[in-house]
Amino acid sequence: MQDEIAERLRKNWGDKPCDHPKFEKEYFLGMHGDYVCCQCGRVFTKEERDEAETKRRVD
Ligand SMILES: [Zn+2]
Repeated sequence: MQDEIAERLRKNWGDKPCDHPKFEKEYFLGMHGDYVCCQCGRVFTKEERDEAETKRRVD
């Protein structure tokens, strides 16, 4: 996902709660980066993504 798309997602989503149902690789300046939530646009490190997915399974 391109950074400007993630940015738009974040603006549209606002500060509603999100359970981060789906992640995509984030690209910064053409480089492989961390992950971004397809729903709210929040950027995650790999560790944070794993944690969010674990939490979702538990809930
Ligand atoms: Zn999210």
